[in-house]
Amino acid sequence: MSEIICTYHGMQSISFTSPNISERVSKKETLNDLIVVKLVLHLPFEKRGIFWVDSDFFATVDIQFENTLKSYEVKNEEIAFDIYTKLYAVCSKCLKEAISEHFLRP
Ligand SMILES: [Zn+2]
Repeated sequence: MSEIICTYHGMQSISFTSPNISERVSKKETLNDLIVVKLVLHLPFEKRGIFWVDSDFFATVDIQFENTLKSYEVKNEEIAFDIYTKLYAVCSKCLKEAISEHFLRP
């Protein structure tokens, strides 16, 4: 697993997320106005990857997404890998904090 030097947490493992969430997380901004979706990718080299992305990300990977859905699963390995390459790396701890804060908000 690759590592990253985080301004807030020092040396950390990386997690992958959508470009929008990655930008918010690195600026320590909230995700409150985003629709955060659990994306499940069936990747060729791993059994399954779970990623947090925002609903706008789907348009950038040519997927029609219903905003009422809480999760989305891509079973085609080729498409899943293509989507995976469009994800950005962030500090795992920063992402975890932003995601928990997002779902815990009143
Ligand atoms: Zn961090």
